[in-house]
Amino acid sequence: MYVSELGEQWHAARVQPAFAHLDSAAAGRSSDAVIEAISAHLWRESARGSYIAAEEVADEIARDKRDLASLIGHATGELAFRESARAALRALLTHWQLPIASTVWVAKNEFGPNLVEFERRGFAVRTLPDADVYGHVDVDALENMLQFEQPDFLHICHIGSMSGVVQPVSRIVEIAHDAGVPVVVDMAQAAGHVPTVTGADVVYGTSRKWLTGPRGVGFVAVRRDSLRPVEIDSSEAFVAGRLGLGVAVREVLAIGQQRVFRELAAIGQATRERLHGIASWEVLEPIDEPSAIVTLAPPPGWQAEDLIAARDKLLSLGILVTAAEPWRAPLATEQAVLRLSPHLDLRREDLDRVADALRTMGY
Ligand SMILES: *Cc1c(COP(=O)(O)O)cnc(C)c1O
Repeated sequence: MYVSELGEQWHAARVQPAFAHLDSAAAGRSSDAVIEAISAHLWRESARGSYIAAEEVADEIARDKRDLASLIGHATGELAFRESARAALRALLTHWQLPIASTVWVAKNEFGPNLVEFERRGFAVRTLPDADVYGHVDVDALENMLQFEQPDFLHICHIGSMSGVVQPVSRIVEIAHDAGVPVVVDMAQAAGHVPTVTGADVVYGTSRKWLTGPRGVGFVAVRRDSLRPVEIDSSEAFVAGRLGLGVAVREVLAIGQQRVFRELAAIGQATRERLHGIASWEVLEPIDEPSAIVTLAPPPGWQAEDLIAARDKLLSLGILVTAAEPWRAPLATEQAVLRLSPHLDLRREDLDRVADALRTMGY
């Protein structure tokens, strides 16, 4: 019934979903233990005063930071929390002493709102060439380009918001470092989803997606030996949320992060195999791309409104997905796509229902 051998365990740790929740790329479903850790701290704050309560959980927060730091390949002291991934990027760009009119190179899958942050600061943005129709960065071309010119930094979405393509971040970091160029990685869709120890100088992400922590918690880690230390931690904090994220990270580590990543990759592949060739919907990733984000281009002639209607239709049938519009990846596409992002509790029946629904909506 579950696609993954971890499905039953993942399912049993959570409330029964109201529908087939294939939308972890928007927000994953937190476990009961995560919700309990958050509410326990809210009670503690009310009983003891929020600042005493925070002191009482300081050791736990320190342990949580160590766990999360290990997952993203940074030292504990390099990790800071913000309220979202975007807030983390903004804090980084505010505190990092970059030259006026900096140059940043990005991949085709760059997240649209990140481009807005760069534009707002007057950065010159250049798009890296891709190696294939899917949009993986062409690392040989990058190596070549870096011999002639060095941007102030590379900014790479490990996985974007509109495609399951996983960028070869470790290789990109190696090449960039050979040329003395720092690399910043947006891990909003990668943390808890794919291996994230990459050697990058700065990484940031969010709690609520694949890590299935609460909303309202983001994180950023800045490697001490690559950049001057930047003070990023916010003074006000959703301490309960940080504790909830800590529990979520521990759950992933308890299962074994490599096992989680392997199973999510298998879930992505099973989803693509099942939906490939249904009516005139087109799976946009390589079938075996090692991620659980699956995007489908609609039949020819469909407009963005039609896709939103399709998403609403699926929801009415008890299936939650996202109609992803091109603002999410404006360098990559002008076409809206249907985005499925199942987590470890994906069931075969869910895929059958999606396939049936797509068949009746395609032509
Ligand atoms: C969701 C997302 C973000 C933004 O995360 P927030 O926590 O909502 O700020 C950034 N980059 C990518 C690729 C995303 O998918």
